Amino acid sequence: MEIISGIALSRVIKEEIKQEVSGFLEKGIRKPKLVAVLVGSDGPSQTYVNAKVKDCLQVGFESEAIRLDESTSEKDLLECVNRLNADSLVDGFIVQLPLPKAIDETKVLMAIDPSKDVDGFHPVNIGNMALGLPGFVPATPAGVLEMLRRSGIETSGKHCVIIGRSKIVGMPLSILLARNANPGNCTVTLTHSRTKNLDEICRAADILIAALGKPGFIKADMVKEGAVIIDVGISRVETDTNEKGYLIQGDVDFNSVSQKARFISPVPGGVGPMTRSSLLTNTLKAYKRSFKLD
Ligand code: NAD
Repeated sequence: MEIISGIALSRVIKEEIKQEVSGFLEKGIRKPKLVAVLVGSDGPSQTYVNAKVKDCLQVGFESEAIRLDESTSEKDLLECVNRLNADSLVDGFIVQLPLPKAIDETKVLMAIDPSKDVDGFHPVNIGNMALGLPGFVPATPAGVLEMLRRSGIETSGKHCVIIGRSKIVGMPLSILLARNANPGNCTVTLTHSRTKNLDEICRAADILIAALGKPGFIKADMVKEGAVIIDVGISRVETDTNEKGYLIQGDVDFNSVSQKARFISPVPGGVGPMTRSSLLTNTLKAYKRSFKLD
């Protein structure tokens, strides 16, 4: 069994990005810039935004977190999006989800200029991804692909079972892994909360990707001997064993499943860091496009 370390892989990716950026700076081009917009005070969202800002600094990007009050109106948020669309010093930006209930998430995501949509959630980018055209692939699916590629995991002809059909993880992953590409060429089964015989389907998976958000849901008896297990889930589980009062847990029962897996990604330290490095990769792509550096 091999543990796929997202921390180690993302460290390499960040170093590659840093090298590339320093080459551009030597040529006198300005730094790439990523902006994160956060509305409200959701705990995990604040953690994610802080981490994104820190990542940017590590690779030599400019970054800015715009923190807006929970009571921000949809109109004000749309104005902020339009300002960022028009700002030539901003290469890419993200609006951290979830948004407060009073704001229409789709309307906000649709307002982002697709050429700055480094989260890859705009319909233009989702459409480009589905058609295999250039664009931005959402960070978590892109991170999973990069994890498979850099770990030398063969995907062609394999049966890949994905649990969860969300717009940001499961759905795009099902498209990407079925594409005629590498990684790709899988036979994909996309499962969800209405799927029947889930255990049986999981046992038929060469590659099992869990993205449902239920801690420890995947047990050893749901997994084929020698399977590749990618755990996307991140849940906060209450504990009195540390000061924070919670532990981060994935969707896979790591201790039992790792006994049967050929490869397994842990939580924390697996897909999470890969998601973060993919956002940097997307931002660098946006920057290179705007300076025609490709
Ligand atoms: P979501 O919460 O929007 O949807 C969950 C999906 O799981 C749905 O499609 C639902 O049908 C399916 N599902 C729920 N219960 C199920 C069951 N019993 N059997 C089969 N399917 C079931 O999904 P999301 O936003 O993709 O998040 C999923 C998990 O991934 C969460 O824990 C989230 O925190 C985590 N996540 C991690 C990263 C990362 O970078 N590692 C990024 C995004 C999301």
